Amino acid sequence: MLLKLSGEVFGGGKLGVDPATVRGIADQIAAAVGEVEIAVVVGGGNFFRGAELSLSGMDRSRADYMGMLGTVMNSLALQDFLEQAGVETRVQSAISMAQVAETYIPRRAIRHMEKDRVVIFGAGAGLPYFSTDTVAAQRALEVRADVVLMAKSGVDGVYTADPKKDPTAAKLEHLTYDEALRRDIRVMDQTAMTMCKDNRLEMVVFGMEGEGNVTKAIRGEHLGTRVTV
Ligand code: UDP
Repeated sequence: MLLKLSGEVFGGGKLGVDPATVRGIADQIAAAVGEVEIAVVVGGGNFFRGAELSLSGMDRSRADYMGMLGTVMNSLALQDFLEQAGVETRVQSAISMAQVAETYIPRRAIRHMEKDRVVIFGAGAGLPYFSTDTVAAQRALEVRADVVLMAKSGVDGVYTADPKKDPTAAKLEHLTYDEALRRDIRVMDQTAMTMCKDNRLEMVVFGMEGEGNVTKAIRGEHLGTRVTV
């Protein structure tokens, strides 16, 4: 399973890392270790988003690198709480920084997962103008994950409209990538969705809030919305 955790999940809605929140997620991942091979792609929106910084006048590429470095900080926080929960982990970074993380080596990542180590992919793709959603799709394909699990905060799946604004909005059990693209439903960005669609990679969009939801999603229990070709 490839689990995508966005930056907002780490910050508990604020800037930076909220240790209690990260510990809670780590404990939920730990509960499924040994049953399922797990890799995690970590976002960084709780620190910086390159597109937002560039609107304030920064060079886009430099701002994107700052965004990528934020994902590494989240990766280290997750690593710490996973190890406190007794799980072996490796952080693999797309930008070399030997003191804190391995370099991204896909075959080594697969080997770690076979040994029940949770592999955390930091620094996105190492490339400006990309998002960690796209990286989630790419890493899932490269390490041959069966499913991408998109953990969401504040919503428990994909709805026909924004459930916070429209009381008639209904939750969808299933959705195709074509429908999502046509209706501009942004469960992940369009590049990522196109990559999943073209490579027939299944995605599950689920809410983090329910009791044990992350563990359930990793175990493949029915949760949220399935998105398929
Ligand atoms: N980023 C990037 N290339 C990548 C992945 C991320 O440039 O391959 C930068 C980009 O600026 C992005 C930021 O890192 O805004 C944080 O990632 P993202 O916005 O995807 O995090 P999330 O929304 O999941 O918290």
